[in-house]
Parts: sequence; C-alpha cells; structure tokens
Amino acid sequence: MSDLSQLRELVAQSCRMLGKLNLTKEPSGHVSARAPGENSILIKARGPEESGLRFVTGRDIIIVDFAGKKVAGDDGLDVPQEVFIHTWLYKSRPEVQCVVHVHPLTVVLFTICNKPLQPLYGAYDPSGLRLLVDGLATYPRSITVSNEKLGEEFAQAMGNKQACLMRGHGITSAGPNVEEATLTAIKVNDAAVINYQANLLGSPQPISQEDIDIMVGKSRGSSKAVHAGSNWRYYCKLLDED
Ligand SMILES: [Zn+2]
Repeated sequence: MSDLSQLRELVAQSCRMLGKLNLTKEPSGHVSARAPGENSILIKARGPEESGLRFVTGRDIIIVDFAGKKVAGDDGLDVPQEVFIHTWLYKSRPEVQCVVHVHPLTVVLFTICNKPLQPLYGAYDPSGLRLLVDGLATYPRSITVSNEKLGEEFAQAMGNKQACLMRGHGITSAGPNVEEATLTAIKVNDAAVINYQANLLGSPQPISQEDIDIMVGKSRGSSKAVHAGSNWRYYCKLLDED
C-alpha cells in the first residue's frame, strides 16, 4: 500500500472513531491530513455520496489543494465548505500534519455558556490534564468557516494551540499525526463531559498545583508517545468490535 493509501485509511479510521464515540452531530465533521510532498491535503468529503463520520471508508477521502479546490475523488464527493479551517492551519503551521473538526455536544454547551474547562483530574488522564494546563484556544464567532478570510481569522484565533473551542459550533484539533490530533479531540470532549457532570453533582474542587505539576511532568516526553500509542490501539480495537 502506498504512503498516500495508508494515510487515506488512517484518516478514514479517525473519522469512524470520532463518529462511534458520538463526538459530532449527524454526518457533520471532517478529518484531514497533509498529503506527502505537495501543497494538498486528504480530507473527508461532503456531498450526495458522502458517508456520515461514523461510516467513512477510504473512498470518502478526497484530495484538495491549498486553495480549497478538489484535485481527486469520486463524483458526488465534494469539498466540505469548512475546508478553510484545514487549509489555513496547514499553511500557517508547518508542524501540523492532521486537523480534526467535529461538533461535540457537551463541548458546545461550554462554549455557549462561556464556562472554562477546569483541570479537575490528574491520574484519571494525565495527558487530558496537560491539554487543559497548556491551554485551549477559543474562536468567539458561531459561523461556518467557509471562505479564505474566515479561515485566516480562525487560524489566527487558534494560534499554536492543540485545540480550539468554537462558540456554538464545535472544536478543531491539530497535531503532528492523525493519531494525536484525534486523541486530542477525544480528550477535549472527555474534559467537557467530566466538567459538566461534576458541576451537576456539586461544586468541583480544583486539584492542587503540586499534583498538577507532577502529573503534567509525567505526561510529557517519551511516556506521552507510549500512552498515545496504547490509547490509539484501544480505540482501533473498539472499532473492530462491530
Ligand atoms: Zn463545523
């Protein structure tokens, strides 16, 4: 299998994972990856022949250039109107190899109420804690990022963060590979679910700075890659259950 075919399958796998975990609404959302060696990306298509995120196969992944124009893909598979979220992150951040955009309900609730996601847990999920400590960007507008100008504005709002909360809309995550960008999206959603449920139950107590420092330290470096690898394999197995 060529590098491009492997990447296409990986993007499709990420889509199915996010769909299976109910991290989006209906068929919305898309995952992309920087195509090797050229100014183009692989991205999950929309259009009359599309499959919703949960049901994506390699066929649903089309090739689009940095101007947002379709370069290759079957008829009936069109460029998502929010392709500019993706193209602008690839153009402005050379380290980014994968971009995930989904509409997770619980995260959207936090953006609507303008409540921050607090670091409420350590050992439960150290890399999820690190994500919150490193900070999430916010995009205050609740519109579809459907042209170059809005794509540029969104990329500026996201800056160099791993994830951006989009008001009344969803989230975008970016990473050095498909696995990390996907896991980041899952962890942002986990943080929102825990913050939401803890607030329903009572008054969440922040964990101590000492414990934050210890757990964030543990989640960096080589252990980060080990955990990301085992988490990814876990979610791949989850997909294989069907
Ligand atoms: Zn969207």
